[in-house]
Order: sequence, then C-alpha cells, then structure tokens
Amino acid sequence: MRDDELDLVGVDQRAHTGALPQDRQIDLALDEAYRRALSHREGAVADYIPILGAADREAFGLCIADVRGGLHEVGDTRTRFSIQSISKAFVYALVCEGIGHHEVRELVGVDNTGLPFNSVMAIELADGHPRNPMVNAGAIATTALMPGATAERTWELIVEGLSRFAGRQLEIDDEVYRSESETNDRNRAIARLLHSYGRMRSDPDETVDVYTRQCSLLVDARDLAVMGATLADGGVNPLTGDQVVSPEVSRDTLAVLAAAGLYERSGEWLYEIGLPGKSGVAGGLVTVAPGKGGLGAWAPPLDAAGNSVRGQVATAHLSRTLGLNIFASTPADRQDPR
Ligand code: GLU
Repeated sequence: MRDDELDLVGVDQRAHTGALPQDRQIDLALDEAYRRALSHREGAVADYIPILGAADREAFGLCIADVRGGLHEVGDTRTRFSIQSISKAFVYALVCEGIGHHEVRELVGVDNTGLPFNSVMAIELADGHPRNPMVNAGAIATTALMPGATAERTWELIVEGLSRFAGRQLEIDDEVYRSESETNDRNRAIARLLHSYGRMRSDPDETVDVYTRQCSLLVDARDLAVMGATLADGGVNPLTGDQVVSPEVSRDTLAVLAAAGLYERSGEWLYEIGLPGKSGVAGGLVTVAPGKGGLGAWAPPLDAAGNSVRGQVATAHLSRTLGLNIFASTPADRQDPR
C-alpha cells in the first residue's frame, strides 16, 4: 500500500493530538473519506466461503463512534454482514478478561506470523505454537480458552460478550454458518494439528464449530464502530455505559491488533494509518483511536491479504485529517517556562 494508492495526496498530514475535533469537522472528514474511497474499484470479494461470493461489491458504509457516545455515519451503516475475523479481537479480549494477560500470552502468543490467515506452515514453523491470535490458528486456540463447561455454554458466553461490546443483541447468520461449516476442512485441519502439538484446551472439532459460529455473527458498520469505541474507552461501551472488559485488557488487545490486525499487511497498515485495527473477509474493518473512538467500515472487495480496500482508503484519510495516528507528535513549545 503506497500513499498514491491510498489517494492521500493533498491531505493535511500534521499531527493533532488530544480529543476528537468538533462534530461538524468529524462529519466533513467522514464525507470526504467516503467520497475518496468510493472511487476505488479494485479488490475481489472473498468466495472461498461460497456464500460470501454473493456480496454486493458496491456496498459501503462508514461510522465513527466517539467515546462521548456520539455517532457519525455515512453510506450503508445499517446493512448487516458476517463479522468473520473481526470476532477474533473481541473473543481475545474476553479470554484475556477470563484467564489473564500472562496465560494468554504464553498459550497463544502476541506476534505476527507474517503469513496468510489460514497458514498451516506458520504452525509448523513455530513447533506447533499458534503465535498470532489474529489468524485462524491462534484464534481457534483462543476460542478453546473461553470459559464454559460445554461448547454450547462457550457459544452463549461469546454471543453475550460480543453483544455487550456492540450494545445490542447480536444474532448468527445461519446461511453463512452453514456455508462455512460445509467448506472449513482447512480450519478443522488446523485445529487437529494444534491438538497434535498439545495446544488445544478443548475438543478441536467442537472448538472449530464454535469459532465458525462466532465468525457468522451479524454486525453492521455502526456495531463495529461501537465495539471499537468500547476498546478505545477503557473497556466501557460509550452507548450503554457497560464495563465489558477492564482497561488493561483493552490496552493488551489493542497492542495485539497493532501488531497483527491486518494479516500480513499489518506493518504497512500501521505505517500508513498508525492505529490498531482488525479486518474480516466479509469486508468489515474496525479501527480504534485510544481515548477517542472507534471507526467501523464495511466494503466487501478485499486486497490480496483479505483487507477491505475502501475501508483502508477511508480509514487512512480519517486517521490523518482527524489527527488519530498514535505515533504522530509535534515538537514541544520551547517557550513554555516549565
Ligand atoms: N471465518 C473465516 C475463516 O476462518 C474468517 C477469516 C477472516 O475473516 O480472516 O476462514
């Protein structure tokens, strides 16, 4: 991803730190981000899960949820799609909340494998350690660590937890679940391989089934923005006031997203956008500006790594115009007597 591909020429790239700007400026930036991204027609809709191939290539929605509870939306923000890989971020947070930072770090890891999301090779290269909770192997191992004595109970806890992040009751898309269940030999192979290395805490087939269900939960761009804003706000959902996870778990989850949220393009993403984020193969993308808010985007055509093309272009514009890049600073005022 290069600047010219992201269409950033002419964008004010100075750092603005502190809070989000006024509502009117957010709305203007959102409209401009939408307009710029709309001209990007490249990318392919995922079809390795057959039903996803039927997605509308033109669908596009953008939403910002700020930590004060304000919502800003443009485009198809209320059309639902399957959350897919974005569920990995929130299930990871629930598992960290349940069993703690050190254990998750030890059992699943926090690094980028630099390999595709469904890589078997990555497991072999690490002697069976999943290493990255944001690709399928690590996410399946993470789901296996969810509390719940039975697979059914684990599933209930996942739906309940992700619904609290979204601030509304989420539901599964049965068609997506069926379509993926019929074709997910590779994920079942990954779970069995992890199991052969002693890396699965629960039954591998049952865990893949729960993982497939979590990926089939329906969200819209607005939900993603609110879920992101919850991680931006120390784990408190800014719409409902519900403390879903602790501030420490939010912090740890965002660190993992910064390292590995955009598959093997996470470094490029961080370089261009400078924020933790997570994408999914149905075209969803959540981005988190800590202390400020969450950004939800949905546009089905994906780049070669599986990230929404329009979602990335729009988020890059918003990161720069709203001063969100966590690495940006301006020199201190040398006249300040302190
Ligand atoms: N359910 C999808 C899979 O396991 C999620 C992939 C993704 O969004 O990256 O293949």
